[in-house]
Amino acid sequence: MSMQDTPSSGRPPPRSGGPKAPSPHPDCPKCQRRMTIKQVAPVLFASNIDDIVYGCEDCGTEIKRSVKRA
Ligand SMILES: [Zn+2]
Repeated sequence: MSMQDTPSSGRPPPRSGGPKAPSPHPDCPKCQRRMTIKQVAPVLFASNIDDIVYGCEDCGTEIKRSVKRA
């Protein structure tokens, strides 16, 4: 029997959203306009994280961001 080495060197799991954005309001990926908050919902399994849905008033694009509460 051979033991297989798994290359796990403390690499964090991949997360959607990319690096933390400095601005709380993201720009629309389509028309680059400042998006507005449409909905805020707390994440149940993480007490200090909110799921925020941003919407673009121009083209209607919606994106969701997980934002850590201060
Ligand atoms: Zn837009």
